[in-house]
Amino acid sequence: MLALSDTTIRASFANATKRELNDLTLPDLSAIAWDKIDYLGWRDLRLARRAYVVVPVGDEIVGVILKQAESAPRSRAQCTWCEDVHLPNDVLLYAARRAGAGGRNGNSVGTLLCANFECSANVRKTPPMAYIGFDVEAAREKRIATLRVRASDFAAGVASVE
Ligand SMILES: [Zn+2]
Repeated sequence: MLALSDTTIRASFANATKRELNDLTLPDLSAIAWDKIDYLGWRDLRLARRAYVVVPVGDEIVGVILKQAESAPRSRAQCTWCEDVHLPNDVLLYAARRAGAGGRNGNSVGTLLCANFECSANVRKTPPMAYIGFDVEAAREKRIATLRVRASDFAAGVASVE
Protein backbone atom coordinates (compact mmCIF):
# COMPACT_ATOMS: atom_id res chain seq x y z
CA MET A 1 0.00 0.00 0.00
CA LEU A 2 1.08 3.62 -0.31
CA ALA A 3 2.65 5.33 2.68
CA LEU A 4 0.18 7.22 4.86
CA SER A 5 0.70 10.24 7.04
CA ASP A 6 -0.30 10.65 10.64
CA THR A 7 -3.06 13.06 9.54
CA THR A 8 -4.49 10.72 6.89
CA ILE A 9 -4.59 7.83 9.33
CA ARG A 10 -6.31 9.84 12.05
CA ALA A 11 -8.89 11.11 9.56
CA SER A 12 -9.61 7.63 8.19
CA PHE A 13 -11.40 6.05 11.13
CA ALA A 14 -14.93 5.02 10.28
CA ASN A 15 -16.09 3.72 13.62
CA ALA A 16 -14.24 5.84 16.18
CA THR A 17 -15.66 8.24 18.71
CA LYS A 18 -13.87 11.54 19.35
CA ARG A 19 -12.60 10.20 22.62
CA GLU A 20 -11.22 7.05 20.98
CA LEU A 21 -9.42 9.19 18.41
CA ASN A 22 -7.89 11.30 21.15
CA ASP A 23 -6.66 8.17 22.90
CA LEU A 24 -5.20 6.64 19.76
CA THR A 25 -1.48 5.91 19.72
CA LEU A 26 0.11 5.59 16.29
CA PRO A 27 3.00 3.27 15.48
CA ASP A 28 6.32 4.68 14.21
CA LEU A 29 5.25 5.33 10.61
CA SER A 30 8.83 5.84 9.39
CA ALA A 31 9.67 2.25 10.39
CA ILE A 32 6.95 0.67 8.24
CA ALA A 33 7.80 -1.08 4.97
CA TRP A 34 4.69 0.20 3.18
CA ASP A 35 5.41 -1.62 -0.08
CA LYS A 36 5.30 -4.95 1.76
CA ILE A 37 1.95 -4.56 3.50
CA ASP A 38 -1.63 -4.70 2.22
CA TYR A 39 -3.09 -3.05 5.29
CA LEU A 40 -1.65 -1.34 8.33
CA GLY A 41 -2.49 -2.98 11.64
CA TRP A 42 -1.21 -2.36 15.13
CA ARG A 43 -2.10 -2.85 18.77
CA ASP A 44 -2.39 0.13 21.05
CA LEU A 45 0.57 0.04 23.41
CA ARG A 46 -1.26 1.97 26.11
CA LEU A 47 -4.71 0.41 25.93
CA ALA A 48 -5.20 -3.29 26.55
CA ARG A 49 -7.28 -5.12 23.92
CA ARG A 50 -7.43 -2.09 21.60
CA ALA A 51 -6.07 -2.43 18.07
CA TYR A 52 -6.42 -0.69 14.73
CA VAL A 53 -6.40 -1.55 11.05
CA VAL A 54 -6.15 0.96 8.23
CA VAL A 55 -7.16 -0.52 4.89
CA PRO A 56 -7.28 0.69 1.29
CA VAL A 57 -10.89 0.42 0.05
CA GLY A 58 -10.99 1.41 -3.61
CA ASP A 59 -9.46 4.89 -3.70
CA GLU A 60 -10.21 5.51 -0.04
CA ILE A 61 -8.43 4.67 3.18
CA VAL A 62 -10.67 3.25 5.89
CA GLY A 63 -9.50 2.91 9.47
CA VAL A 64 -11.25 0.56 11.88
CA ILE A 65 -10.92 0.40 15.65
CA LEU A 66 -10.85 -3.16 16.87
CA LYS A 67 -11.43 -4.61 20.27
CA GLN A 68 -9.97 -7.94 21.18
CA ALA A 69 -12.86 -10.16 22.27
CA GLU A 70 -13.05 -11.37 25.85
CA SER A 71 -13.35 -14.95 24.67
CA ALA A 72 -10.30 -16.52 23.10
CA PRO A 73 -10.77 -18.38 19.82
CA ARG A 74 -10.46 -22.14 19.88
CA SER A 75 -6.80 -23.06 19.96
CA ARG A 76 -4.91 -22.76 16.68
CA ALA A 77 -7.59 -20.78 14.88
CA GLN A 78 -7.02 -19.72 11.30
CA CYS A 79 -6.91 -16.06 10.31
CA THR A 80 -9.89 -15.08 8.15
CA TRP A 81 -7.86 -12.56 6.16
CA CYS A 82 -4.66 -14.38 5.17
CA GLU A 83 -5.99 -17.93 5.73
CA ASP A 84 -2.50 -19.20 6.45
CA VAL A 85 -2.91 -22.95 6.82
CA HIS A 86 0.44 -23.31 8.61
CA LEU A 87 -0.81 -21.24 11.57
CA PRO A 88 2.55 -19.47 12.00
CA ASN A 89 1.33 -17.02 14.65
CA ASP A 90 -1.45 -16.54 17.20
CA VAL A 91 -4.85 -15.57 15.87
CA LEU A 92 -7.29 -13.55 17.96
CA LEU A 93 -10.96 -12.75 17.71
CA TYR A 94 -11.41 -9.03 17.15
CA ALA A 95 -14.67 -7.11 17.03
CA ALA A 96 -15.35 -3.81 15.28
CA ARG A 97 -18.30 -1.61 16.15
CA ARG A 98 -20.18 -0.65 13.01
CA ALA A 99 -20.09 2.99 11.96
CA GLY A 100 -23.07 5.26 12.54
CA ALA A 101 -26.45 4.28 13.90
CA GLY A 102 -25.72 0.55 13.66
CA GLY A 103 -22.79 0.90 16.03
CA ARG A 104 -24.76 3.05 18.44
CA ASN A 105 -27.31 0.25 18.54
CA GLY A 106 -24.58 -2.18 19.49
CA ASN A 107 -23.95 -3.81 16.12
CA SER A 108 -20.46 -5.09 15.61
CA VAL A 109 -18.59 -7.30 13.18
CA GLY A 110 -16.19 -9.97 14.37
CA THR A 111 -13.21 -11.42 12.60
CA LEU A 112 -10.39 -13.83 13.38
CA LEU A 113 -7.15 -12.01 12.68
CA CYS A 114 -3.45 -12.59 13.12
CA ALA A 115 -2.72 -11.33 16.64
CA ASN A 116 -0.06 -8.85 15.53
CA PHE A 117 -1.30 -8.40 11.97
CA GLU A 118 1.22 -10.70 10.33
CA CYS A 119 -1.11 -11.33 7.33
CA SER A 120 0.93 -9.37 4.78
CA ALA A 121 4.12 -11.25 5.70
CA ASN A 122 2.27 -14.58 5.66
CA VAL A 123 0.89 -14.20 2.14
CA ARG A 124 4.30 -13.15 0.82
CA LYS A 125 5.99 -16.38 1.84
CA THR A 126 6.82 -18.57 -1.12
CA PRO A 127 4.26 -21.39 -1.14
CA PRO A 128 5.48 -24.99 -1.41
CA MET A 129 5.64 -26.50 -4.88
CA ALA A 130 2.32 -28.36 -4.92
CA TYR A 131 3.12 -30.35 -8.08
CA ILE A 132 5.59 -30.26 -10.97
CA GLY A 133 4.95 -27.11 -12.98
CA PHE A 134 3.04 -25.45 -10.14
CA ASP A 135 3.30 -21.69 -10.61
CA VAL A 136 4.62 -20.61 -7.22
CA GLU A 137 4.73 -16.92 -8.09
CA ALA A 138 1.14 -16.91 -9.38
CA ALA A 139 -0.01 -18.64 -6.19
CA ARG A 140 1.75 -16.01 -4.10
CA GLU A 141 0.19 -13.17 -6.11
CA LYS A 142 -3.22 -14.72 -5.69
CA ARG A 143 -2.84 -14.91 -1.91
CA ILE A 144 -1.83 -11.24 -1.80
CA ALA A 145 -4.84 -10.27 -3.95
CA THR A 146 -7.19 -12.34 -1.78
CA LEU A 147 -5.89 -10.72 1.41
CA ARG A 148 -6.52 -7.28 -0.08
CA VAL A 149 -10.11 -8.20 -0.96
CA ARG A 150 -10.81 -9.69 2.48
CA ALA A 151 -9.39 -6.66 4.33
CA SER A 152 -11.20 -4.24 2.06
CA ASP A 153 -14.53 -6.07 2.38
CA PHE A 154 -14.24 -6.06 6.15
CA ALA A 155 -13.42 -2.34 6.39
CA ALA A 156 -16.13 -1.45 3.87
CA GLY A 157 -18.63 -3.52 5.85
CA VAL A 158 -17.80 -1.73 9.10
CA ALA A 159 -17.91 1.68 7.43
CA SER A 160 -20.87 0.78 5.18
CA VAL A 161 -19.06 2.39 2.27
CA GLU A 162 -18.32 0.72 -1.06
ZN1 LIG B 1 -3.66 -13.16 8.97
